[in-house]
Amino acid sequence: MRALYPGSFDPLTLGHLDLIERAARLFDGVMVAVLQNPSKTPAFSLEQRLNQIRTATAHLPGVEVASFDGLTVEFASRCGAGVILRGLRALSDFEFELQIAHTNHSLAPAVETLFLATAVQHSFLSSSVVKEVARFGGDVAHLVPPGVALDLARLFNRCDSSQGSHG
Ligand code: ADP
Repeated sequence: MRALYPGSFDPLTLGHLDLIERAARLFDGVMVAVLQNPSKTPAFSLEQRLNQIRTATAHLPGVEVASFDGLTVEFASRCGAGVILRGLRALSDFEFELQIAHTNHSLAPAVETLFLATAVQHSFLSSSVVKEVARFGGDVAHLVPPGVALDLARLFNRCDSSQGSHG
């Protein structure tokens, strides 16, 4: 069984990576897919995010990385994934995730949504928090893979206070 792990990954965090590593042990293949969402303005380009994920998952043979737009269930069918994987950090994630899972089920009943509880040490971690820490010069080495830490340093060294990240 193949699983699709969709998200914004703006940027990839160690929480995402932990989930991918655990999923790689559970499934024959895991497709990590960056959603091109026209309603969001990401801090990192699609190419940067794909590179971040490819570099961080290079040690995981069953993991592939791609981007998609449109419906997640359609992309799941296109890449032969029977499962959409999502992470649950806290109760606050639950309501939204359940709504999406029910919607996806109504669109494509054959595709199951599975939730993995995030690792306790990463349960406070989000891409937004990481960007806030990096923006104000905090150390993010314990929160993101090394390549992402470099990208964050480049992004915020270059930007003045009127620029920066969204989402
Ligand atoms: P989206 O905009 O689709 O929520 P994210 O990149 O924020 O994209 O999250 C992608 C997936 O990763 C979601 O299922 C989310 O719950 C999960 N996730 C986010 N942060 C973490 C974390 N710290 N640990 C594990 N999973 C996470």
